[in-house]
Amino acid sequence: MNGSKSLHDRIAEHVRVLPRSGIRDFFDLVSQMDDVVSLGIGEPDFVTPWHIREATIYALEKGHTSYTSNLGLYSLREECCRYVEEQFGVSYDPAKECLITVGVSEGMDLALRALLNPDDEVIYHEPSYVSYNPSVAMAHATPVPVATTAEDDFILKPQQVQGAVTPQSKVLISNFPNNPTGASLNYSQKEELAKKAVGNDLLVLTDEIYSELTYQDAAPSLAAFPGMKERTVLLHGFSKAFAMTGFRIAFACGPAELIEAMMKVHQYSMLCASVIAQEAAQEALKNGEKSMLAMRREYEQRRNVIVKRLNNAGLDCMTPKGAFYAFPSIRSTGLSSKEFAAQLLEKKKVAVVPGTAFGQAGEGHVRCSYAASMEDIEIATDRIAEFVEELKS
Ligand code: PLP
Repeated sequence: MNGSKSLHDRIAEHVRVLPRSGIRDFFDLVSQMDDVVSLGIGEPDFVTPWHIREATIYALEKGHTSYTSNLGLYSLREECCRYVEEQFGVSYDPAKECLITVGVSEGMDLALRALLNPDDEVIYHEPSYVSYNPSVAMAHATPVPVATTAEDDFILKPQQVQGAVTPQSKVLISNFPNNPTGASLNYSQKEELAKKAVGNDLLVLTDEIYSELTYQDAAPSLAAFPGMKERTVLLHGFSKAFAMTGFRIAFACGPAELIEAMMKVHQYSMLCASVIAQEAAQEALKNGEKSMLAMRREYEQRRNVIVKRLNNAGLDCMTPKGAFYAFPSIRSTGLSSKEFAAQLLEKKKVAVVPGTAFGQAGEGHVRCSYAASMEDIEIATDRIAEFVEELKS
């Protein structure tokens, strides 16, 4: 091997320079400790509703174990388009405007890879879901984060988008209700944002994964506003509202030409989503509303409890309008987000995620997931209150 390059040097540069997810590192640490109460995990604590699991088992019993069309089962695409029209107020043709993907994660990656050339810029709001920035970088384009703030309830203001636009701007990513802040946009805020996208000729990727979990100010998807359908990919999935993270199943709706481009990337990288996950998704859309609403009611109660308790503990916390995250400020403690999370874990065995795991704009905050039992929420917030109190002495 003398004279040959190290493996490290042979890894593609744009991948080598990517940081590992801050959440992963933190939870590797948590997994080595006993008795930790975790508000860290970004997935439902509910198991997938039984009727969906049963439909999956039945699909296997019937021997449904093959590939499907690259686009996904036609019957599922029909259900997705029906659901999107009802839920989001936009109609799509299941034959050519809908693609079944392996999670919203894959849908986002496909859209970015299908759209981006090396000099293109992608505007997105931070703090944001951890994959947006690296997914843009892996598509060889430039991520342009726009900081949202607690003072503005973490909404993305149209003038912020305007300020970030350059001749290279091509795509705007939007995710409301938001991970990690729980922020949501009301009708007029979405309307104004849509006007900015149209006015600046931006393509829009709207990540609707938490949409069902909206507790206040529900509004149609950005895709439903005038001039938007033809420039938007609506990404949605089953992981959160239907508690189906492990099924890895989602879908994308958008203009036929763009869905066709995404389908080509999908065809050569993934081929198709798992057929049994597709059958499960079909059951979720057909008969899953009742169990989904029951989970939403439970999240809403937990939200009310966690927000009250965090504020009582001396951490300013906006009431999140959606998703299942509270994002309190920890500035009053004088600690950085990472210090707060590390010391809380060490001293009180409570896991929360440092806000900076979601981008620099998350500094001064931590993410507390309330996809945890009420008992865990109460124990964790009691310990947080003790921790904050002890910091004062
Ligand atoms: N988008 C957001 C905003 C998320 O928070 C997550 C998961 O946490 C995903 C996408 C990934 O979803 P999926 O499981 O469908 O890949």
